[in-house]
Amino acid sequence: MDLKAMVKSLENCDCGRAHETDVRAVYCGPNITAEAGRILKSENFPTSLLLVADQNTLRASRGLLPALRASGFLVKQQVFEDMRTADMEDVDLVASLSAGLDAILSVGSGSLNDICRLAAFKADKAFAIYATAPSMDGFASDSAPITTGNFKFSHPAKQPSVIMADTKVLAASPAELKAAGFGDMIGKFIGLADWRISNLLTGEYYCPKIAALTEEALRRLLPLAHKVQDNDEKTAGEIFEALVLTGLAMGFAKSVRPASGAEHVISHFWEVKKLQEGKLSDFHGKKVGLATLLLNKMYLQAAGVSQIKPQPENLDMDEILSVYGEGLTDDVIKANTPSVTQGITPELLSEHWEDIRNILLKTLPPQDELVRLMQSAGLPLRVEEIAVDRDLRDKAIRYSPFMRQRLTLLRLWPMLGFEYGID
Ligand SMILES: [Zn+2]
Ligand SMILES: [Zn+2]
Repeated sequence: MDLKAMVKSLENCDCGRAHETDVRAVYCGPNITAEAGRILKSENFPTSLLLVADQNTLRASRGLLPALRASGFLVKQQVFEDMRTADMEDVDLVASLSAGLDAILSVGSGSLNDICRLAAFKADKAFAIYATAPSMDGFASDSAPITTGNFKFSHPAKQPSVIMADTKVLAASPAELKAAGFGDMIGKFIGLADWRISNLLTGEYYCPKIAALTEEALRRLLPLAHKVQDNDEKTAGEIFEALVLTGLAMGFAKSVRPASGAEHVISHFWEVKKLQEGKLSDFHGKKVGLATLLLNKMYLQAAGVSQIKPQPENLDMDEILSVYGEGLTDDVIKANTPSVTQGITPELLSEHWEDIRNILLKTLPPQDELVRLMQSAGLPLRVEEIAVDRDLRDKAIRYSPFMRQRLTLLRLWPMLGFEYGID
């Protein structure tokens, strides 16, 4: 990926925002493992580092350690058993283990990266990622969702200065993880529609160039759906680059909008509600994929309605807070003060309805095409397959919009006069 050229093309953007990133380089290709030491050296990455992995990612990255040592790196290792959740305890452990070293190298994806991202931020160390699976779009992120007790909070964290991935390793990663990465990307259909709709109704910041980055990454990926499950280097590399690109897009825009709309909020709702019961939920990208499937159907149905009967918002905050329950009420109150629907009147909705329909029809794929893409990528099509029951599914559709200060079409559903029925 020619990151320098991309940053150059975004200079002096008409949107008025400076599109910058702390990521200096992204390397994705065959033989990156053997080249890792030389790559980090050429990027002036510090030579004394803490390598953080778990047993799975350490195995997947075979050859990395000798390559680093051959290039003169002093490497201390922290290998976890099987990293499925990013806990604050592990962040603090990694931060303390990095004492006396200059950098942290995260070997893996998802939670491993999140732990290291925050540890590098806290301990003020240089940070790089060697990715082992194209499973989610957080690689280039500057924030880390970390679990404390039964709750998950997003913390400001460090962007990696270098991101590396060996396509052989990516291709050989579990099919479920590659499918999850594809699911995370397919969610961008909804995210991009929500972003434009919010821009239209509230004047929220929007940059067409950044939106186009995400859209292009997504479109490039769609023809590869049937190869996601294969051990195919080109496909795995493309999924990885698309995920990195949307992460970069968020950083460029200083907003999560280029990568995340109502589908991510639903996925987060499922996650926190399960966490409240002390249960782990399925992979992020699988949840995002399913939420996308539900929303795409609803949004397309909305687009088919030519005349709406909009009404003022009528919220029962007590009911909403009781759905979220203990430990989440403060966050929900904060996310709704002020309400994202402030200033959105029934008249405004009527006035812009035709434009909203056009955005939906232009942005969203036909439902049968979405089903086909997800099926061929090996993604689940029913919530039961990700251990979400119908009650939790329906609660997410109705109540998830209140957990973020982010306007989505889903949040406007009752104001537009629509019913929630989704069967
Ligand atoms: Zn711009
Ligand atoms: Zn995501």
